Amino acid sequence: MKIEYDLIVIGGGVLGTFHAYHALQMGFRVALIEKDKKPQGATIQNFGQVVPSGMDSKWQTYGRSSLKIYKEIQSKFDISVRQNGSVYLASNEEEVQLIEELRQINQANAYESHLLTKQQCLDKYPGLRSDYVKAGLFFPEEVTVEPRTMIYKLQDYMIHQMGLTLLLNTSIINCESSSEGVVLSSAAHEEFVAAKVIICNGNEFKNLYPALFNESDLEVSKLQMLQTKPQANYKLPGSVLTGLSIRRYEAFYECPSFKAIKAKEDPNSTEKKWGVHILFKQAADGSVILGDSHQYADARNQEDLGFDLDMDIDNFMIAEARKIIDLPNYEIQNRWYGRYSQCKTTDIFEKTIDTNIHIITGIGGKGMTGSAGFSKENNIKIFNR
Ligand SMILES: Cc1cc2nc3c(=O)[nH]c(=O)nc-3n(C[C@H](O)[C@H](O)[C@H](O)COP(=O)(O)OP(=O)(O)OC[C@H]3O[C@@H](n4cnc5c(N)ncnc54)[C@H](O)[C@@H]3O)c2cc1C
Repeated sequence: MKIEYDLIVIGGGVLGTFHAYHALQMGFRVALIEKDKKPQGATIQNFGQVVPSGMDSKWQTYGRSSLKIYKEIQSKFDISVRQNGSVYLASNEEEVQLIEELRQINQANAYESHLLTKQQCLDKYPGLRSDYVKAGLFFPEEVTVEPRTMIYKLQDYMIHQMGLTLLLNTSIINCESSSEGVVLSSAAHEEFVAAKVIICNGNEFKNLYPALFNESDLEVSKLQMLQTKPQANYKLPGSVLTGLSIRRYEAFYECPSFKAIKAKEDPNSTEKKWGVHILFKQAADGSVILGDSHQYADARNQEDLGFDLDMDIDNFMIAEARKIIDLPNYEIQNRWYGRYSQCKTTDIFEKTIDTNIHIITGIGGKGMTGSAGFSKENNIKIFNR
């Protein structure tokens, strides 16, 4: 057998697809292999908020690089990127304090943001409740994508404009280095050979290296999501993040007052029990995506998270959302849960099996934001460029 590709990426989610994208840009022959008819993992199940503003400094840098990459691709080919900015809405004095501090951090990082008064928030976000909002912090550079279509459009672009080979319905169950290169075997007994392999398997831990994943500190989060029916004559621009997000997102951990404010929170509150914070994003069809909750299990026990949607969680999220924005209608057309993997102790799972086989997963809740920028840098490391 001889080497057919310089790189094969296993996993057609956002992390795998952007590793393939940058390798193509580096001039390599690349194949992307996906086990399903179409990828349907976390990359399809999410909000599509690209929000470097919510990340810690390290991932904000990757997120800002991602923004450039998304915009550059969108300027050539429609992959559903819309630049409407992101806003954090503070609902009390503590949250106002935190957005003011985050504004200062971002000023020092040369990342554009604007404090909005209560009235400016009310003018910009229709239906926003005057008894909820106190002030806002707006990031004009940030974008949204349509999670249910973006990755398919991007892969189409990569096939037709960049020479990607995309192999769908191909579950890889073995991966081994040999004198000829790295040999991959599929469940259907096909073999593929590449000089290098990058495995971006998301939260699928049974097909390849199961023992490694079972012993790792990877965990899986299950997130409940809701989508209203399309809202008639109503526009909610960009990503809308609210008070509970200000109290949850990593970016705010770097604010001087964060620790003291967190220390005053009730550890037994309903939002803590289910890991709920409230986010809104209007999809291109006018519907509004609402969420989300977080429940966790170790990677080896992810089935314990179950397949039910807990209606108590959904009802709580709708009740909380209603306190923030009076949408024209709260009729729900879709409910689902998504799952992603993350590490308990590090920001991403990276394991080099040998010099030519690399596993990268566990990007957590930051994959739509960070993957494009992170994988560009990671490819440079992997290919020693
Ligand atoms: C509900 C929800 C909301 C979120 N909202 C946001 C958001 O607004 N902004 C944000 O930045 N992030 C968000 N995230 C996080 C983001 O969606 C994830 O970080 C990201 O999609 C992970 O991408 P991935 O490629 O690692 O995994 P996945 O998308 O799960 O892709 C992994 C792929 O690998 C394939 N695969 C696995 N093993 C094999 C194998 N052996 N052979 C072949 N194929 C294989 C799988 O079929 C799958 O398609 C959210 C996540 C969820 C669940």
